[in-house]
Amino acid sequence: MSASPLRLRFAPSPTGYLHVGGARTALFNWLLARKTGGKFLLRIEDTDKARSTDESTRAIFDGLNWLGLDWDEDVVFQGANLERHRADAQRLLTTGKAYRCFCTADELQVRRAAAEAAGGAFVYDRRCDHLAKDEIDRRVAAGMPFVVRFRVPAGDTSWDDLVHERITFPNKDIDDFVILRSDGTPIYNHAVVSDDIAMGITLVMRGDDHISNTPKQILLYEALGAALPRFGHLPMIHGTDGKKLSKRHGATAVGDYQHLGILPQAMVNFLALLGWSPGGEFEEVMTMEQLIASFSTDGLLRKASVFDPKKLEWMNGQHLARLPIAEVAARVTPLVVAAGYSTAEHLEKNAAWWHTLLELLRVRARLIDEIVPMAETYFRDAVTYDPDAVAKQWKDPAALQPLLAATRETLQGLSAWDPALMESELRALAEQKGVGTGKLFQPLRVALTGLSTSPGLFDVMLVLGKDRTLARISAAESKLATMVAGT
Ligand code: GLU
Repeated sequence: MSASPLRLRFAPSPTGYLHVGGARTALFNWLLARKTGGKFLLRIEDTDKARSTDESTRAIFDGLNWLGLDWDEDVVFQGANLERHRADAQRLLTTGKAYRCFCTADELQVRRAAAEAAGGAFVYDRRCDHLAKDEIDRRVAAGMPFVVRFRVPAGDTSWDDLVHERITFPNKDIDDFVILRSDGTPIYNHAVVSDDIAMGITLVMRGDDHISNTPKQILLYEALGAALPRFGHLPMIHGTDGKKLSKRHGATAVGDYQHLGILPQAMVNFLALLGWSPGGEFEEVMTMEQLIASFSTDGLLRKASVFDPKKLEWMNGQHLARLPIAEVAARVTPLVVAAGYSTAEHLEKNAAWWHTLLELLRVRARLIDEIVPMAETYFRDAVTYDPDAVAKQWKDPAALQPLLAATRETLQGLSAWDPALMESELRALAEQKGVGTGKLFQPLRVALTGLSTSPGLFDVMLVLGKDRTLARISAAESKLATMVAGT
């Protein structure tokens, strides 16, 4: 790689939302820039005025901001560079690297149809390249519309791709492609090359779908006398069925994941592993700093990567478990308030209690939103019993009722509301009553939470507090009594 700092860019077209594939491209460029002390530039390719929208441009900014991918220097809007695109096309005309083509769309269509009918692919036959200078001048003076075509030289065009190694295209397979339309607007390949040269881009990393554009772009660099950047084409992202990722597979917009409760650091970590690997045995859960430190183009993978939403959820759970608890609270508090379980004031006043509860719940959740229903029972006086839990754990109400009464009395008499003390006393009680601890703890869990799974029993009691714990056990005793009476 060159010794001078890399200049990389992300060049989305603002014609929709920020797709996860685009975000992955942005991330890889950003990581490489941050890793090597280079620059990461953003160019909005808004030359297609009919399809480009401000809303989409905003979605790109929002998505990148959310992911934490900041860009260096001012955003470049491609549409603002029209004069340069034209000047570069003019330069190619002047130096004889391009020519004016007066063939109309209808004429080309007839020739295309004829070529296809003859079983061949249509290649522009260069008839306008053979026009005499006088004739060209006459047509231009007469105001005949023309496009500017690049004259593809003979030979091959090759490059050493960062992902795919050596790629070669025979130039004979490349049409004399249009670089400027008859209205004077540039075609994609020309605008990109003109801008990449002007922005001093030294490495172009983008999706595999651009591979067929690259030989044309290389030819343009050479014709414009500019130094070539390096190129790297990232493998496509597939759904779990092996097909190209699309809306059929679920959300493909970065913004959707933001609203589904995915943490940006989890999204970044997940995207980073789509088409890249640090190599060898590695810890998949990485912070942004760790990603920057380990990122390298050597780890870019060739084969398509799979976007597995389950893995993203898992990744989110991993990051959720590592988030500073105050940040978890900042995210969950508004949701719990909106659900009507508590008020922001109450939670703030009881921050220590709230944080303890969140510590218990967050390790069991994969998404922030999942914490909310788990938290409900800790704000309610009454327990809602899950019928399955009752059927499974309260099989013998007559025997259980006195056992829970004894449990309540034991807990009542504790000198401190301390999980270790609760545990030792309740273990002693189980032994004294001649029952296994499971036979006591599992039914007790249902009494306290209504559920057969929960955080650790003694932690649950700690968070519920003594009064609520004892009240819940009493309520369970009453329910068991009605069950006994009902049989
Ligand atoms: N604007 C192009 C796109 O969104 C990318 C151009 C490039 O990276 O060269 O696909």
